[in-house]
Amino acid sequence: MSQSLLEMTKELITEQIRKGRVPPGETQALLLSIHATLQRLYETEMSGAVTTSPNPYEPGSRVDWKRSIAKHAVTCLECGETFKQLSSRHLRRHNLDPRSYRTKYGIPSMQPLSAHVATARRRELARQIRPWEQAASKRKADKTRARKRGVNY
Ligand SMILES: [Zn+2]
Repeated sequence: MSQSLLEMTKELITEQIRKGRVPPGETQALLLSIHATLQRLYETEMSGAVTTSPNPYEPGSRVDWKRSIAKHAVTCLECGETFKQLSSRHLRRHNLDPRSYRTKYGIPSMQPLSAHVATARRRELARQIRPWEQAASKRKADKTRARKRGVNY
C-alpha cells in the first residue's frame, strides 16, 4: 500500500470533516469507502488498464498535437472540427491565429497546420517547375517532333 494513497485518503477525509459534511460516527465508514475507492483507482493505474483516457480533443485540455494532424484531416484542437487545412480564418473564431495556436499547443513553427496528404501535395507542387512554363516547353517539343515527322503547323 502506498504512502501517497493513505495521504490522499487522509486529505480527503480531513477536507470533508472540516466542511462539516461528515456526521459524527460515520467518519470510519467514509474513510473506508474513500480508501477503497482510491485503492481501486491505484490498482487500475498500476495494472495499466486505465480505460478512462481523456478525450484528446477536449477543448482546453493538454493534448498531443501530433494526433490532431492525420493523413487526411487536421483536427482543430479548440473545437474538434476537422479540415484539410486549419485556416487562420477558422482560428480567428477562437481568437487565435496560426502562431498563437501553435504556441498554445506546443506545435513547432515549421509544422504545417494541414492534413499530411494536403501538405505532401503542396510540397509536390512547389517542387515542380511552374506549370505554365512546363506546358510551354512541352508544346515546343511537340512542335519540333511534329516538324521532324513532316507535319506543318
Ligand atoms: Zn476550431
